[in-house]
Amino acid sequence: MTIQDPTDPRQYDVIIIGAGFAGLYALHRMRGMGLSARVYEAGPEVGGVWFWNRYPGARCDVESLQYSYSFSPELEQEWVWTEKYATQPEILRYIRHVAERFDLRRDIQFNTRVEEAVYDEAGARWELRTEAGERVSGRFCVMATGALTVPQLPDIPGIERFAGKIYHTATWPHEGVDLSGRRVGVIGTGSSGIQAIPAIAKQAEQLVVFQRTANFSIPAWNGPLQPEVQQTWKKDYREHRRRAREVGTLYEFSDKAASQVGEEERQREYERRWQKGGVNFVHSFNDLMVDKQSNDTIAEFVRAKIRATVKDPQVAESLCPKDHPLGSKRICVDTGYYETYNRDNVKLVDLKKTPIREVSASGVHAGDVHHELDVLVCATGFDAVTGALRHIDIRGRNGQQLSRKWAEGPRSYLGLMTSGFPNLFIITGPGSPSVLVNMVVGIEHHVGWICDCLDHLRRQGLASIEAGQAAEDRWVEHVNAAANKTLFPLANSWFLGANVPGKPRVFMLYAAKLWVYRQECQAVADKGYEGFTLAAVPRPALAEAP
Ligand code: FAD
Ligand code: NAP
Repeated sequence: MTIQDPTDPRQYDVIIIGAGFAGLYALHRMRGMGLSARVYEAGPEVGGVWFWNRYPGARCDVESLQYSYSFSPELEQEWVWTEKYATQPEILRYIRHVAERFDLRRDIQFNTRVEEAVYDEAGARWELRTEAGERVSGRFCVMATGALTVPQLPDIPGIERFAGKIYHTATWPHEGVDLSGRRVGVIGTGSSGIQAIPAIAKQAEQLVVFQRTANFSIPAWNGPLQPEVQQTWKKDYREHRRRAREVGTLYEFSDKAASQVGEEERQREYERRWQKGGVNFVHSFNDLMVDKQSNDTIAEFVRAKIRATVKDPQVAESLCPKDHPLGSKRICVDTGYYETYNRDNVKLVDLKKTPIREVSASGVHAGDVHHELDVLVCATGFDAVTGALRHIDIRGRNGQQLSRKWAEGPRSYLGLMTSGFPNLFIITGPGSPSVLVNMVVGIEHHVGWICDCLDHLRRQGLASIEAGQAAEDRWVEHVNAAANKTLFPLANSWFLGANVPGKPRVFMLYAAKLWVYRQECQAVADKGYEGFTLAAVPRPALAEAP
């Protein structure tokens, strides 16, 4: 591996695209290995998701003590979280602090969108072109472009005629929006909508929620993080982090099946977990994501909670999810979501009963009713997992386009690389657990694996690594088999690309436990990167290693 050519400052060992949690950590680690690395970030600041998603109520739903980097014991000791689930501004402050503390900014070029990445086979380098026409090259390219980066706007007839303001939750104005005295409509009741709706209801004069699919949401029971709780946790941070990596995000996995215990025990466990709140609720029993009948019991428990909370029985019934198993769409975590529908200024429009017909200059027409609005908030999600990659023209060997290769659905080996695209790594991409786990833990794992791989290449005097076709085919089959054992395919979720018209319906994520996946990745590395082709010099057509 070469060190940066001093006569051409635009040639690097590694180019990293994206300056969120993933890109920043990749930069830190690769610089630490003595590699020349440069980050290109479309936005004007670090933070990724936490820079862009500034809607009212935005916060993490994995507890902050866990939704944070583990690579620096000093960092984790010195940073003080103020709430159990930190707000977007607090998480952004944390990420900025990381950038300063590890002096990362000097190797990040902001306001620079990468539009094209082409593999030059003769030179064994990735040649990148930015939106402004700048050209840079790297021996390796790391896609830290994020799984939830490209906002998805609803394709509703007449929306362009709306005379009021339209905002997407992921591109919320940085100066904030004053909603007081306004009539606001929110389209979408996923995690973003469910966080935004209670906060908007407190500001707006009227709020109309347009719900297409009712979602399961679990109370966060958020609140200030007591100093003694934080201190106790920090004393054991190493052990907590080890467990997060090796067991899961300290999720309290159950070793019992709901189908094997009585009704009373099931209800007791659901109630206990409900009172603790958060995403852990999904792990109340170990068969909930594989056995529909078991899942029905937890789903019914939540529906009973909704009916007990929401005063208007018709509204409550509309809010009860009935068309997908609990957890098959990303579970939501809320603060006062269902209670919000008891407010006089909040109205629910059930689009299953009264679909949106059109948007006019003055509002939204659903069923036979015209809802007059000043502001329309689209909490309509993302072109997830593959969206950011689809927006870059990525060409590998023989000029093959990644978007063409993935036209029927993404294909990768270990979720880290894809055949035909040597030296191109993807962080939390398709075929990895990605958004199914605490993503900071997943990111640190991926970056660690990539760095070990680069170190291996360097020690062995090798220049390139590429996923073998046969290994990739086996991995894709393995990922599909893992998904088919679960209830995930039963929902029309963004996990399957179902929210983006024309996107192939493929479950994009690896549904195994994180520790299983980590062991699989480690086993491949231990066997000399089995299934990958490693080469000392660039060759036009690399045969797969036996
Ligand atoms: P991102 O943070 O998305 O960063 C990617 C960066 O790449 C962006 O800044 C983008 O501008 C840049 N980029 C993309 N394409 C280009 C290009 N072509 N050129 C240049 N730059 C480019 N996960 C959890 O585990 N727990 C949570 O509680 C949680 N909460 C979330 C809340 C919200 C509102 C959202 C949207 C997501 C949440 N997630 C959560 C998932 C979140 O995506 C990850 O946790 C994590 O922040 C992803 O970090 P990243 O660096 O991989 O990607
Ligand atoms: P999402 O889960 O995809 O939800 C989008 C919502 O918009 C859905 O309710 C969807 O309905 C609705 N919708 C989309 N198009 C519509 C249309 N044309 N008409 C009517 N309704 C429409 O997106 P998200 O809420 O932004 O969340 C995405 C992911 O980001 C989450 O799953 C999570 O991983 C992460 N996130 C986490 C947090 C957190 O709590 N920390 C907060 C926000 C986001 P259908 O279901 O019918 O498609």
